[in-house]
Formats: sequence, structure tokens, C-alpha cells
Amino acid sequence: MKNRSLLLQHPPSPLQTVESEIFARQGLRLMVKRDDLLHPHVSGNKWRKLKHNLLEANRLGCSRLITFGGTYSNHLAAVAAAGTAFGFATTGVVRGEKNEPLNPTLQFAEECGMELHFTSRTDFKEKTNAGLLEKLKIDTTGSYILPEGGSNCLALTGCRELVAETEAQLGHLPDFIVTACGTGATLAGIVSGLAGQATALGVSVLKGGFLKNDVEKLLTKCLPPQSEIRNPKSAIVVDDFHFGGYAKWKPELIDFINDFKFRTGIPLDPVYTGKAFFAAFELAKNGFFPANSTVMLVHTGGLQGIAGFHQRFGPLLL
Ligand SMILES: *Cc1c(COP(=O)(O)O)cnc(C)c1O
Repeated sequence: MKNRSLLLQHPPSPLQTVESEIFARQGLRLMVKRDDLLHPHVSGNKWRKLKHNLLEANRLGCSRLITFGGTYSNHLAAVAAAGTAFGFATTGVVRGEKNEPLNPTLQFAEECGMELHFTSRTDFKEKTNAGLLEKLKIDTTGSYILPEGGSNCLALTGCRELVAETEAQLGHLPDFIVTACGTGATLAGIVSGLAGQATALGVSVLKGGFLKNDVEKLLTKCLPPQSEIRNPKSAIVVDDFHFGGYAKWKPELIDFINDFKFRTGIPLDPVYTGKAFFAAFELAKNGFFPANSTVMLVHTGGLQGIAGFHQRFGPLLL
């Protein structure tokens, strides 16, 4: 078996300065933390969130990873790829009926050897993870079970490392760290590493306004009550850049992503990073960030989703 703890060590992801007139005009410095480059297939925040879970699975002697996700889930793709890279068998429970041919995300997962089980949206929503596994008669012996999105407490531990890593690269912390949010685990992990010295700004890609509450719940669950690293005050949640909801989009989002790639060479995805970066640019334009601030946008990855997006909507992204 491969030496997994060694394989899971990695150099810091690049921290890149990006020239932007919009930010410069406001006296702001813009940086991008390229977590999308952490691994070719286990990219971005999914790498951060999986790292300590994989170490734990290894420590427990588990041979299989079992997890849950939607049909275009970055997390499912990342777990499937992590299985190949680190020698775990993988099982994915997918929300929704099986459609063939499989979409690019599920096709990738299957090519990585992931065993896919499909389940109705109702069951997926209503049943607990254990209930779903029982219903699908999935044997969990020797398996390590990851929740949807990989969002457990060990995920926060991994995301917290992004903060120390950035501080070492920059010599100090940026004033603002901006990240796209789904479950909020990435934001919670970052917040828990800031100890109030900088502001984490989470951009929700989901409609409904529950991100703030979700982040606080995760912090309460995962960190001891008097913990110094638990500081929800250093988090700001932005709920008005979801473009209508998960995976919904408007032409101005596509224009922004294409323009950003043209100017910087950095590709963004339309479901997560595109919306977060779009939000940061709008906030900068509107004078949200105080002058002289350094604003760091976290590229949380998710580029595997572009193929599925193109299949549904046509080749909109350059
Ligand atoms: C999953 C994902 C997120 C959301 O992470 P959470 O920890 O669930 O908030 C953000 N960006 C990308 C690219 C993702 O794949």
C-alpha cells in the first residue's frame, strides 16, 4: 500500500497577485489563492476537506470511502479521484435516478472505479446517511463514511490550514479572504483559523439565506466552547449573489467569467468560483472594502463541472 501520509503532504498552493483596475481604483490589492492547482483531480477545497479524512481513514485501516452527492457534485468527483490516487475503493450514493449516458462528472467517477448507487431525490433528502445506506443494502464494513460535500469536522481542520499557509506565504494575513460557499464548511474552517485577525467573506451559491446559521452550527459542533479559534465575528456572509440558486446563472455571470479568464488566464467555474469572484468585484466597485485592504479570493476549484455545464447549456465558457 502507498504511504498515504507522505502523499497527502503538499507544497502550498500558489498565491498569485492579480492586476485589476476595479480593485486598484479603490486602493485595493487583489490576490488569488490557487487551490485549484493543489491536485489535478482532487482540486480546491475538496482537497483541503478530504485531507484529514483520508488520514483518519488510513489510521482506522479502512479500505473503502463511501459518500453522497448530486449528479454534478465536485465532491463525488474528488472522492473518486482520491480513491484512485491514494488506494481506496470508493462508493458514491447519487441523488436522482440514473440517466444514460452518464454526465461527465459521473462518467469520470465511474472511470475512477467508483461504485455508483442512484436514489430518489425524496429518499436522498429525507433519509439519514445511515438510512440511505441501509435502504440501498450497501455493506459498510471496513468503510469510511463521508457526508455530502465532505463537510465534517475534519474538513474544517483541513480548511483551517489554508490560513496558516497564506500567512507564511504573504508574511501576514490578507485583510479579507473570500470564498464560495455551499455547506459552509470551508468558510467555517477558514474562520476558525483567523482568530479575528482578518475577515472571512463567504458568498453563498445557494438561495435561502441559511449559510450564516450553518456556519455557526459547524463551529459550535466542531470547536470547543471556549476555543480561541472559534470566532464567528470574523465572518461575513453574502447571500445575494446566487443568481437564482444552485447552478443557476445569468449572461452577466458568464461574461464575467470569460472576461476574468481573458484578463488573468485564470479559469473559473459557473457554479461556485464564478459567483464568488463576481461578488467580490461587485463589492469592490461599491466601496465595500476599505482602501489599502488586501483582498484574497480563494480559488476553490470546481473546474470539473464545466464539462457538464457545457453539455447542458452549450459551450458558453471560453
Ligand atoms: C464544494 C465547493 C464549494 C463549497 O464548499 P463548502 O465547504 O460546502 O461551503 C465551493 N467551491 C467549490 C469549487 C466547490 O466545489
